[in-house]
Amino acid sequence: MQNQELWQLLEETGVYTTGHFQLSSGRHSGEYLQCARLLQWPDKTELVARAMADRLAGLCPDTVIGPALGGIIIAYELARALGARAIFAERAADNQMALRRGFTLRPGEKVLVVEDVVTTGGSVREVLDLLGGQEVEVVGVTSIIDRSDGEVDFGVPFFPLITMPVRSYPPQECPLCQAGLPVTKPGSRK
Ligand SMILES: [Zn+2]
Repeated sequence: MQNQELWQLLEETGVYTTGHFQLSSGRHSGEYLQCARLLQWPDKTELVARAMADRLAGLCPDTVIGPALGGIIIAYELARALGARAIFAERAADNQMALRRGFTLRPGEKVLVVEDVVTTGGSVREVLDLLGGQEVEVVGVTSIIDRSDGEVDFGVPFFPLITMPVRSYPPQECPLCQAGLPVTKPGSRK
């Protein structure tokens, strides 16, 4: 799948929206990417996951792991395309990322981390911290969309499918706030 087709899918499914948004990082933006709008379509998600898998097959991961909730579906579809296992990390009672529901990792297992959209990379970093406590080999990080503008360094290779820097501002410098537009918080993180 070519980049042009990927963009077309994101446009068709309404992943890209404009307005006045508070991102999970706390910054404000006039643009927002809601990957759930793509992920609600299994057929389209499968195409995207295959495009990711084509570029990642050389990593030969045993397991693909994503942070809940955004990373669960894409981890599952990517694992299917790579012939790997899919698990997810989620917050435990102490708000720390954890493996629950009986998910385990064996020593030496090759693990690929996937997220739907990387902005600050916070959730991915928490999953990497979690994996750091296990004797696994982290082969890389991937995401459907990279909005980090090259600002993230996970300490392992990062292979985003689509790179899309999005302009954002600290709230006190946000031109949309200054224009008096109401802000919405579209993210899933509290
Ligand atoms: Zn604002």
